[in-house]
Amino acid sequence: MKYVLDQEKIRPDLVRTIERLSGEDVRQCYQCGKCSAGCPIAADMDLPPNQVMRMLQLGLTDEALDSRTIWLCASCETCTTRCPREVDLAAVMDALRHEALRQGRKSPIRQIPFFNRTFLRLIKKYGRVFEMELIGRFNVGTLHFFKDVTKAPRLFFRGRLKLWPSFKGRKTARPAFQAVKNAQRHEPAEPPAADESAGNPTP
Ligand code: SF4
Ligand code: SF4
Repeated sequence: MKYVLDQEKIRPDLVRTIERLSGEDVRQCYQCGKCSAGCPIAADMDLPPNQVMRMLQLGLTDEALDSRTIWLCASCETCTTRCPREVDLAAVMDALRHEALRQGRKSPIRQIPFFNRTFLRLIKKYGRVFEMELIGRFNVGTLHFFKDVTKAPRLFFRGRLKLWPSFKGRKTARPAFQAVKNAQRHEPAEPPAADESAGNPTP
């Protein structure tokens, strides 16, 4: 796909925010494409992982933040492991999701943030996921009431689906949620000031 570089769309300040959140320098990427070649989800992504990096190098944060890619990424870290420049691309994807949510952008695949929120809510409630409730809430929330119900009996008889939640781990989960809450409280409200030299295309 062809992209036209429009000065008004270039946001070096947001690139710096992504770098701060991920701890990575996007200029380290030299576009070898090894991350995309190994990514198990790349075929379904609108931007392969290396192109997400390229968009950030060009300062085109809207393209990265509005992509399906950041929501499809499964955080498997294959890209991170394969990168010859030791760029933690999985952390960059995480930072992009974080920033997209902070800005209130709508995910192009609405079920994914809904699933993530529901999953975390259950971890907070029980200390671990209760699959029966997760499936129920997800199916009702997405109006796909009978999605995957035929799989339930098989999972149940194999002991993979419990009828009642377990509260084991609730004590250990609570401090983790509290730590996230504290970290969010100390997050800067505004991204750092724009650096004019940042976000320019790499040579
Ligand atoms: S593997 Fe690393 S250097 Fe290569 S394109 Fe991906 S992020 Fe860039
Ligand atoms: S972490 Fe995300 S982008 Fe990287 S290989 Fe896994 S799914 Fe693909």
